[in-house]
Amino acid sequence: MTADKYFLGKYDHVVVNGRRLKADLAIIDKPAFIRDLTGSVLLHEPDTMNLGDFDRVIDATGYKRAFLPAVELFPVVYAVQIRLKAKTPQAPTAVLSPHGGYSWLFPAGSGEVHVGSLSPFGYDAARQALKCVTGGIAQDNAVCSCRGEIRCHGQAHPFVQGRIWGIGEAIGLVDPVTAAGIIPAMTSAKLLVENWDSEDDYSKAVLKKYGYMMKEAAALNHLMAGNLLSSSDIFLPKQALETIGLQPNLFELMGLAIQGARDFLDNLASKDKSPSRKET
Ligand SMILES: Cc1cc2nc3c(=O)[nH]c(=O)nc-3n(C[C@H](O)[C@H](O)[C@H](O)COP(=O)(O)OP(=O)(O)OC[C@H]3O[C@@H](n4cnc5c(N)ncnc54)[C@H](O)[C@@H]3O)c2cc1C
Repeated sequence: MTADKYFLGKYDHVVVNGRRLKADLAIIDKPAFIRDLTGSVLLHEPDTMNLGDFDRVIDATGYKRAFLPAVELFPVVYAVQIRLKAKTPQAPTAVLSPHGGYSWLFPAGSGEVHVGSLSPFGYDAARQALKCVTGGIAQDNAVCSCRGEIRCHGQAHPFVQGRIWGIGEAIGLVDPVTAAGIIPAMTSAKLLVENWDSEDDYSKAVLKKYGYMMKEAAALNHLMAGNLLSSSDIFLPKQALETIGLQPNLFELMGLAIQGARDFLDNLASKDKSPSRKET
């Protein structure tokens, strides 16, 4: 397989809150990539499978974590996305929301654009943010739409239980700041293959690569509870952004983190003062 086949676009910058940031990233045709990866592999209906028939089961069921023990970890964010025939932005574009979360416009090739929003406050809040971004674009221009919950807590343990080994979002490998999980999912699959014979080595390799996610999630939970970020928290998004190919310099990084956190806290404070807010 050659990577080039799946690129819908390659970019040396993105635009976040109107600021141009250096980047080295690609937008890929994920469905085509998955189709080619699975190829002629025989697909089993999960309900008709007996796990005992297999030497090893890979839990790659994402948020569902269908085979490993269930976990309840926060924050969870709610993402909605549509693909539209519309004027395509020149580079991937994102806007941080003062209500928490962010919205994005990604060029998707063939005169189409992926527009999406995510919010920690549910699908309605995410849809509301999406409306602000799509503005006057007619919904009948939509080619398709999707939505999903994303667990932004960082690692979800256990990674392995008996013959079941987890990868990707099933073991929490989604970046808490960006909610991006595609690269960590593929990377964990590679780490699993490299450490096929040792559960311990696999866990260590995952934690070495993505242990930083827990710190990010703790800072986000702290912020969402209405607290100021500490000065060291401001640098946490660096790894998050690097994972998806963004390379902001120090000042750009600080600017984004401080502005995002301040807007969120101001918005939270104005809601608390609002007379329409019910006292408990
Ligand atoms: C709207 C939206 C937009 C996103 N945009 C981005 C983005 O731009 N960049 C990025 O990096 N990340 C993005 N993410 C997050 C990213 O999609 C996931 O983190 C990533 O796909 C996780 O990969 P995975 O292989 O672990 O799981 P998934 O891609 O979620 O795949 C899990 C698969 O398991 C299947 N499944 C579930 N239960 C069972 C079962 N019981 N038996 C068998 N199969 C089952 C599901 O149908 C699914 O096909 C987005 C998420 C959403 C919801």
